[in-house]
Amino acid sequence: MTVNLLDFDADGLTAWFAEQGEKPFRAKQVLRWMHRSGVADFAAMTDIAKSLREKLKARAVVAPPAVVSDKVSDDGTRKFLIDVGNGNAVETVFIPEDDRGTLCISTQAGCALDCAFCSTGKQGFNRNLTVAEIIGQLWQANKALGVVHGDERVISNVVMMGMGEPLANFENTVAALKLMLDDNAYGLSRRRVTVSTSGLVPVMDRLREECPVALAVSLHAPNDKLRDELVPINQKYPLKELMAACQRYLEKAPRDFITFEYTMIDGINDSEAHARELLALVKNVPCKFNLIPFNPFPGSPFKRSPAERVRRFADILMQAGIVTTTRKTRGDDIDAACGQLAGQVKDKTKRTSGRVIPLMEARS
Ligand code: SAH
Ligand code: SF4
Repeated sequence: MTVNLLDFDADGLTAWFAEQGEKPFRAKQVLRWMHRSGVADFAAMTDIAKSLREKLKARAVVAPPAVVSDKVSDDGTRKFLIDVGNGNAVETVFIPEDDRGTLCISTQAGCALDCAFCSTGKQGFNRNLTVAEIIGQLWQANKALGVVHGDERVISNVVMMGMGEPLANFENTVAALKLMLDDNAYGLSRRRVTVSTSGLVPVMDRLREECPVALAVSLHAPNDKLRDELVPINQKYPLKELMAACQRYLEKAPRDFITFEYTMIDGINDSEAHARELLALVKNVPCKFNLIPFNPFPGSPFKRSPAERVRRFADILMQAGIVTTTRKTRGDDIDAACGQLAGQVKDKTKRTSGRVIPLMEARS
Protein backbone atom coordinates (compact mmCIF):
# COMPACT_ATOMS: atom_id res chain seq x y z
CA MET A 1 0.00 0.00 0.00
CA THR A 2 1.24 3.48 -0.82
CA VAL A 3 1.76 5.56 2.30
CA ASN A 4 1.32 9.30 2.58
CA LEU A 5 4.47 10.67 4.20
CA LEU A 6 2.53 13.67 5.53
CA ASP A 7 0.84 11.23 7.92
CA PHE A 8 4.07 10.80 9.93
CA ASP A 9 5.63 12.94 12.61
CA ALA A 10 9.46 12.83 12.84
CA ASP A 11 9.58 9.59 14.85
CA GLY A 12 7.04 7.92 12.61
CA LEU A 13 8.96 8.91 9.51
CA THR A 14 12.24 7.63 10.96
CA ALA A 15 10.58 4.31 11.78
CA TRP A 16 9.13 4.02 8.28
CA PHE A 17 12.52 4.79 6.73
CA ALA A 18 14.08 2.10 8.92
CA GLU A 19 11.53 -0.39 7.59
CA GLN A 20 12.67 0.52 4.08
CA GLY A 21 16.30 -0.09 5.14
CA GLU A 22 17.12 3.64 5.19
CA LYS A 23 19.05 5.68 7.75
CA PRO A 24 17.45 8.24 10.12
CA PHE A 25 19.24 11.20 8.50
CA ARG A 26 17.43 10.41 5.25
CA ALA A 27 14.12 10.69 7.06
CA LYS A 28 15.23 14.07 8.40
CA GLN A 29 16.16 15.29 4.93
CA VAL A 30 12.79 14.28 3.53
CA LEU A 31 10.99 15.81 6.53
CA ARG A 32 12.71 19.13 5.81
CA TRP A 33 11.90 18.99 2.11
CA MET A 34 8.25 18.30 2.78
CA HIS A 35 7.58 20.71 5.60
CA ARG A 36 10.23 23.42 5.47
CA SER A 37 10.34 23.71 1.70
CA GLY A 38 6.82 22.61 0.89
CA VAL A 39 8.01 20.11 -1.70
CA ALA A 40 5.69 17.24 -2.61
CA ASP A 41 7.61 15.84 -5.58
CA PHE A 42 10.42 13.42 -4.70
CA ALA A 43 12.21 14.29 -7.96
CA ALA A 44 12.76 17.84 -6.63
CA MET A 45 14.51 16.62 -3.46
CA THR A 46 17.87 17.21 -5.03
CA ASP A 47 20.26 16.27 -2.22
CA ILE A 48 18.81 12.77 -2.03
CA ALA A 49 20.35 10.00 -4.13
CA LYS A 50 18.40 9.26 -7.27
CA SER A 51 18.00 5.61 -6.33
CA LEU A 52 16.34 6.55 -3.04
CA ARG A 53 14.12 9.08 -4.75
CA GLU A 54 12.94 6.35 -7.09
CA LYS A 55 12.37 3.95 -4.24
CA LEU A 56 10.30 6.59 -2.44
CA LYS A 57 8.29 7.30 -5.56
CA ALA A 58 7.40 3.63 -5.85
CA ARG A 59 6.32 3.25 -2.24
CA ALA A 60 5.03 6.59 -1.01
CA VAL A 61 3.40 9.89 -1.84
CA VAL A 62 3.41 13.36 -0.31
CA ALA A 63 -0.27 14.18 -0.61
CA PRO A 64 -1.70 17.26 1.11
CA PRO A 65 -5.48 17.65 0.97
CA ALA A 66 -6.67 19.87 -1.90
CA VAL A 67 -7.76 23.47 -1.45
CA VAL A 68 -11.16 23.81 -3.11
CA SER A 69 -11.72 27.46 -2.38
CA ASP A 70 -9.68 30.41 -1.13
CA LYS A 71 -11.48 33.63 -0.18
CA VAL A 72 -10.06 36.86 1.16
CA SER A 73 -12.19 38.99 3.47
CA ASP A 74 -12.26 42.80 3.43
CA ASP A 75 -10.19 42.80 6.63
CA GLY A 76 -7.49 40.53 5.19
CA THR A 77 -8.74 37.33 6.85
CA ARG A 78 -8.39 34.49 4.39
CA LYS A 79 -10.52 31.37 4.42
CA PHE A 80 -9.52 28.12 2.75
CA LEU A 81 -11.94 25.30 2.17
CA ILE A 82 -10.03 22.03 2.30
CA ASP A 83 -11.30 18.89 0.60
CA VAL A 84 -11.22 15.89 2.90
CA GLY A 85 -12.87 13.44 0.52
CA ASN A 86 -16.33 11.95 0.05
CA GLY A 87 -17.89 15.33 -0.51
CA ASN A 88 -16.69 16.71 2.83
CA ALA A 89 -14.69 19.88 3.34
CA VAL A 90 -13.26 21.63 6.39
CA GLU A 91 -12.17 25.19 6.91
CA THR A 92 -8.84 26.82 7.67
CA VAL A 93 -8.62 30.54 8.42
CA PHE A 94 -5.56 32.80 8.25
CA ILE A 95 -5.78 35.93 10.39
CA PRO A 96 -3.03 38.49 9.73
CA GLU A 97 -2.23 40.99 12.49
CA ASP A 98 0.52 43.57 12.89
CA ASP A 99 2.73 41.44 15.09
CA ARG A 100 1.73 37.92 14.10
CA GLY A 101 -0.03 35.69 11.63
CA THR A 102 -2.43 33.16 13.09
CA LEU A 103 -3.73 30.07 11.33
CA CYS A 104 -6.93 28.59 12.72
CA ILE A 105 -7.14 24.92 11.76
CA SER A 106 -9.73 22.15 11.91
CA THR A 107 -9.21 18.71 13.44
CA GLN A 108 -12.44 16.88 12.59
CA ALA A 109 -15.05 16.93 9.84
CA GLY A 110 -18.00 17.99 11.98
CA CYS A 111 -18.08 17.48 15.74
CA ALA A 112 -19.97 15.07 17.96
CA LEU A 113 -20.13 17.29 21.04
CA ASP A 114 -23.15 19.28 19.93
CA CYS A 115 -22.65 22.57 21.77
CA ALA A 116 -25.89 24.52 21.54
CA PHE A 117 -24.46 27.63 19.88
CA CYS A 118 -21.98 26.06 17.45
CA SER A 119 -22.55 25.68 13.75
CA THR A 120 -20.02 22.84 13.45
CA GLY A 121 -21.73 20.97 16.29
CA LYS A 122 -25.10 21.36 14.61
CA GLN A 123 -23.73 19.59 11.54
CA GLY A 124 -23.03 16.40 13.48
CA PHE A 125 -19.89 14.30 13.27
CA ASN A 126 -18.45 12.79 10.16
CA ARG A 127 -14.91 11.66 10.96
CA ASN A 128 -11.53 12.47 12.42
CA LEU A 129 -9.05 14.17 10.13
CA THR A 130 -5.82 12.30 9.39
CA VAL A 131 -2.43 13.76 10.35
CA ALA A 132 -1.89 14.66 6.67
CA GLU A 133 -5.20 16.52 6.63
CA ILE A 134 -4.42 18.44 9.82
CA ILE A 135 -0.80 19.37 9.03
CA GLY A 136 -1.80 19.69 5.36
CA GLN A 137 -3.79 22.81 6.29
CA LEU A 138 -0.55 24.45 7.41
CA TRP A 139 1.26 23.10 4.36
CA GLN A 140 -1.36 24.51 1.99
CA ALA A 141 -1.69 27.86 3.80
CA ASN A 142 2.10 28.34 3.66
CA LYS A 143 2.03 27.63 -0.03
CA ALA A 144 -0.89 29.99 -0.68
CA LEU A 145 0.79 32.71 1.38
CA GLY A 146 3.98 32.31 -0.61
CA VAL A 147 6.19 31.13 2.25
CA VAL A 148 9.39 29.61 0.95
CA HIS A 149 11.83 27.48 2.88
CA GLY A 150 9.95 27.97 6.11
CA ASP A 151 12.21 30.84 7.08
CA GLU A 152 9.58 33.54 7.05
CA ARG A 153 7.34 33.86 10.02
CA VAL A 154 4.20 34.50 8.03
CA ILE A 155 2.35 31.94 10.11
CA SER A 156 3.73 32.50 13.60
CA ASN A 157 0.81 31.07 15.57
CA VAL A 158 -1.52 28.14 15.15
CA VAL A 159 -4.80 27.74 17.01
CA MET A 160 -6.83 24.55 16.87
CA MET A 161 -10.09 26.46 16.96
CA GLY A 162 -11.57 25.51 13.62
CA MET A 163 -14.00 22.68 13.13
CA GLY A 164 -14.00 19.78 15.56
CA GLU A 165 -12.76 18.95 19.03
CA PRO A 166 -8.99 18.39 18.85
CA LEU A 167 -8.88 16.25 21.98
CA ALA A 168 -11.49 13.89 20.53
CA ASN A 169 -8.93 13.15 17.76
CA PHE A 170 -6.02 12.90 20.12
CA GLU A 171 -3.37 10.77 18.36
CA ASN A 172 -3.60 12.62 15.06
CA THR A 173 -3.74 16.00 16.78
CA VAL A 174 -0.60 15.23 18.79
CA ALA A 175 1.33 13.99 15.73
CA ALA A 176 0.37 17.21 13.91
CA LEU A 177 1.36 19.30 16.97
CA LYS A 178 4.76 17.59 17.06
CA LEU A 179 5.34 18.52 13.43
CA MET A 180 4.39 22.13 14.15
CA LEU A 181 6.95 22.27 16.95
CA ASP A 182 9.72 20.34 15.16
CA ASP A 183 12.62 22.48 13.94
CA ASN A 184 12.90 20.23 10.90
CA ALA A 185 9.26 20.93 10.07
CA TYR A 186 7.50 24.17 11.10
CA GLY A 187 9.58 25.14 14.13
CA LEU A 188 6.81 27.02 15.94
CA SER A 189 7.13 27.97 19.58
CA ARG A 190 5.17 25.80 22.02
CA ARG A 191 3.71 28.99 23.44
CA ARG A 192 2.35 29.98 20.07
CA VAL A 193 0.48 26.78 19.36
CA THR A 194 -2.88 26.57 21.12
CA VAL A 195 -5.26 23.66 21.53
CA SER A 196 -8.83 24.67 22.28
CA THR A 197 -11.02 22.16 24.06
CA SER A 198 -14.56 22.05 25.31
CA GLY A 199 -13.20 20.22 28.34
CA LEU A 200 -12.39 16.54 27.79
CA VAL A 201 -10.83 16.23 31.22
CA PRO A 202 -8.92 12.90 30.94
CA VAL A 203 -7.51 13.88 27.55
CA MET A 204 -6.33 17.25 28.91
CA ASP A 205 -4.16 15.21 31.28
CA ARG A 206 -2.79 13.17 28.37
CA LEU A 207 -1.98 16.31 26.41
CA ARG A 208 -0.08 17.69 29.40
CA GLU A 209 2.03 14.52 29.50
CA GLU A 210 2.55 13.93 25.79
CA CYS A 211 2.72 17.36 24.17
CA PRO A 212 2.04 20.37 26.39
CA VAL A 213 1.18 23.45 24.35
CA ALA A 214 -0.86 26.56 25.18
CA LEU A 215 -4.38 25.63 26.23
CA ALA A 216 -7.70 27.36 25.68
CA VAL A 217 -10.79 26.00 27.41
CA SER A 218 -14.28 26.78 26.14
CA LEU A 219 -16.15 27.75 29.28
CA HIS A 220 -19.27 29.67 28.17
CA ALA A 221 -21.11 29.33 31.50
CA PRO A 222 -20.29 29.97 35.17
CA ASN A 223 -22.32 27.08 36.64
CA ASP A 224 -23.09 23.46 35.82
CA LYS A 225 -26.78 24.03 35.25
CA LEU A 226 -26.23 26.42 32.36
CA ARG A 227 -23.09 24.72 31.05
CA ASP A 228 -24.86 21.34 30.94
CA GLU A 229 -27.16 22.92 28.37
CA LEU A 230 -24.70 24.97 26.35
CA VAL A 231 -21.79 22.52 26.37
CA PRO A 232 -23.31 19.04 26.89
CA ILE A 233 -19.93 17.37 27.58
CA ASN A 234 -20.21 19.21 30.93
CA GLN A 235 -22.67 16.53 32.04
CA LYS A 236 -19.78 14.08 31.91
CA TYR A 237 -16.99 16.38 33.13
CA PRO A 238 -18.53 19.09 35.32
CA LEU A 239 -16.93 22.39 36.21
CA LYS A 240 -15.28 21.26 39.43
CA GLU A 241 -13.39 18.53 37.57
CA LEU A 242 -12.65 20.90 34.70
CA MET A 243 -11.13 23.53 37.01
CA ALA A 244 -8.99 20.86 38.70
CA ALA A 245 -7.81 19.64 35.27
CA CYS A 246 -6.85 23.22 34.36
CA GLN A 247 -4.76 23.48 37.51
CA ARG A 248 -3.01 20.19 36.74
CA TYR A 249 -2.39 21.28 33.16
CA LEU A 250 -0.63 24.43 34.32
CA GLU A 251 1.97 22.36 36.16
CA LYS A 252 3.54 21.50 32.79
CA ALA A 253 2.15 24.09 30.39
CA PRO A 254 4.45 26.39 28.39
CA ARG A 255 2.37 29.35 29.56
CA ASP A 256 1.40 30.15 33.11
CA PHE A 257 -2.28 30.74 32.43
CA ILE A 258 -5.24 29.06 30.80
CA THR A 259 -7.24 31.04 28.25
CA PHE A 260 -10.95 30.74 28.92
CA GLU A 261 -13.12 31.30 25.88
CA TYR A 262 -16.57 32.63 26.62
CA THR A 263 -19.10 33.12 23.88
CA MET A 264 -21.39 36.02 24.78
CA ILE A 265 -24.99 35.10 24.04
CA ASP A 266 -27.74 37.67 24.50
CA GLY A 267 -29.78 37.06 27.64
CA ILE A 268 -28.30 33.60 28.22
CA ASN A 269 -24.88 33.88 29.88
CA ASP A 270 -23.99 37.58 29.73
CA SER A 271 -25.34 39.24 32.90
CA GLU A 272 -23.32 40.96 35.61
CA ALA A 273 -24.34 38.16 37.97
CA HIS A 274 -22.84 35.62 35.54
CA ALA A 275 -19.59 37.58 35.48
CA ARG A 276 -19.39 37.59 39.29
CA GLU A 277 -20.19 33.88 39.44
CA LEU A 278 -17.34 33.30 36.98
CA LEU A 279 -14.90 35.12 39.22
CA ALA A 280 -15.71 32.73 42.04
CA LEU A 281 -15.42 29.73 39.72
CA VAL A 282 -11.94 30.53 38.40
CA LYS A 283 -10.43 32.00 41.56
CA ASN A 284 -7.84 29.23 41.86
CA VAL A 285 -6.92 29.02 38.16
CA PRO A 286 -4.49 31.60 36.75
CA CYS A 287 -6.28 32.62 33.58
CA LYS A 288 -7.12 35.11 30.90
CA PHE A 289 -10.54 35.54 29.35
CA ASN A 290 -11.36 35.83 25.71
CA LEU A 291 -14.93 36.98 25.18
CA ILE A 292 -16.36 36.00 21.79
CA PRO A 293 -19.51 37.84 20.77
CA PHE A 294 -21.81 35.08 19.49
CA ASN A 295 -21.65 34.67 15.74
CA PRO A 296 -25.07 33.87 14.34
CA PHE A 297 -25.65 31.17 11.74
CA PRO A 298 -28.78 30.01 9.93
CA GLY A 299 -31.26 28.20 12.15
CA SER A 300 -29.70 29.26 15.45
CA PRO A 301 -32.08 30.56 18.13
CA PHE A 302 -29.42 32.74 19.79
CA LYS A 303 -28.46 36.38 19.40
CA ARG A 304 -25.20 38.21 19.99
CA SER A 305 -24.92 40.17 23.26
CA PRO A 306 -25.03 43.93 22.73
CA ALA A 307 -21.59 45.57 22.74
CA GLU A 308 -22.35 47.51 25.91
CA ARG A 309 -23.15 44.35 27.84
CA VAL A 310 -19.94 42.71 26.61
CA ARG A 311 -18.00 45.76 27.82
CA ARG A 312 -19.66 45.63 31.23
CA PHE A 313 -18.91 41.90 31.53
CA ALA A 314 -15.27 42.49 30.56
CA ASP A 315 -15.01 45.34 33.10
CA ILE A 316 -16.13 43.13 35.96
CA LEU A 317 -13.49 40.52 35.09
CA MET A 318 -10.79 43.14 34.61
CA GLN A 319 -11.59 44.93 37.86
CA ALA A 320 -10.89 41.61 39.56
CA GLY A 321 -7.46 41.58 37.88
CA ILE A 322 -8.15 39.11 35.08
CA VAL A 323 -6.77 40.08 31.68
CA THR A 324 -9.80 40.05 29.38
CA THR A 325 -9.91 40.56 25.65
CA THR A 326 -12.93 40.73 23.43
CA ARG A 327 -12.42 39.00 20.16
CA LYS A 328 -12.84 41.21 17.18
CA THR A 329 -15.19 39.60 14.78
CA ARG A 330 -13.12 39.09 11.72
CA GLY A 331 -13.86 37.50 8.43
CA ASP A 332 -17.57 38.05 9.02
CA ASP A 333 -18.25 38.77 5.37
CA ILE A 334 -16.89 35.37 4.30
CA ASP A 335 -18.42 33.39 7.20
CA ALA A 336 -14.98 32.79 8.68
CA ALA A 337 -15.73 33.99 12.20
CA CYS A 338 -15.65 31.66 15.22
CA GLY A 339 -18.41 29.13 15.25
CA GLN A 340 -19.49 29.98 11.73
CA LEU A 341 -17.16 27.39 10.33
CA ALA A 342 -19.53 24.89 8.93
CA GLY A 343 -17.52 23.50 6.05
CA GLN A 344 -19.50 21.00 4.11
CA VAL A 345 -19.93 17.92 6.18
CA LYS A 346 -22.00 14.88 5.48
CA ASP A 347 -23.33 13.90 8.86
CA LYS A 348 -22.86 10.24 9.62
CA THR A 349 -25.09 10.49 12.68
CA LYS A 350 -28.85 10.32 12.51
CA ARG A 351 -29.27 14.04 13.00
CA THR A 352 -31.79 15.53 10.62
CA SER A 353 -31.07 19.21 11.07
CA GLY A 354 -27.55 19.07 9.60
CA ARG A 355 -26.92 21.37 6.70
CA VAL A 356 -25.29 19.26 4.04
CA ILE A 357 -23.97 21.11 1.05
CA PRO A 358 -22.41 19.18 -1.80
CA LEU A 359 -18.86 20.21 -2.54
CA MET A 360 -19.71 21.39 -6.04
CA GLU A 361 -22.00 24.06 -4.61
CA ALA A 362 -19.34 25.12 -2.16
CA ARG A 363 -16.95 25.92 -4.97
CA SER A 364 -19.22 28.48 -6.53
N1 SAH B 1 -13.96 22.24 19.77
C1 SAH B 1 -13.09 23.19 20.33
C2 SAH B 1 -12.44 24.10 19.33
C3 SAH B 1 -13.27 24.67 18.19
S1 SAH B 1 -14.45 25.93 18.51
C4 SAH B 1 -13.77 23.99 21.41
O1 SAH B 1 -14.96 23.90 21.53
O2 SAH B 1 -13.06 24.63 22.16
C5 SAH B 1 -13.53 27.44 18.85
C6 SAH B 1 -14.30 28.39 19.78
O3 SAH B 1 -15.42 29.01 19.13
C7 SAH B 1 -14.87 27.66 20.99
O4 SAH B 1 -14.66 28.39 22.16
C8 SAH B 1 -16.33 27.61 20.64
O5 SAH B 1 -17.12 27.40 21.77
C9 SAH B 1 -16.55 28.95 19.98
N2 SAH B 1 -17.78 29.03 19.22
C10 SAH B 1 -18.49 28.01 18.67
N3 SAH B 1 -19.58 28.48 18.05
C11 SAH B 1 -19.57 29.82 18.19
C12 SAH B 1 -20.43 30.88 17.74
N4 SAH B 1 -21.49 30.62 16.99
N5 SAH B 1 -20.10 32.13 18.05
C13 SAH B 1 -18.99 32.40 18.76
N6 SAH B 1 -18.15 31.46 19.21
C14 SAH B 1 -18.43 30.17 18.93
FE1 SF4 C 1 -17.52 20.83 18.90
FE2 SF4 C 1 -16.17 22.96 19.84
FE3 SF4 C 1 -18.39 23.27 18.34
FE4 SF4 C 1 -18.60 22.31 20.83
S1 SF4 C 1 -17.87 24.37 20.22
S2 SF4 C 1 -19.64 21.49 19.01
S3 SF4 C 1 -16.73 21.09 20.98
S4 SF4 C 1 -16.46 22.38 17.67
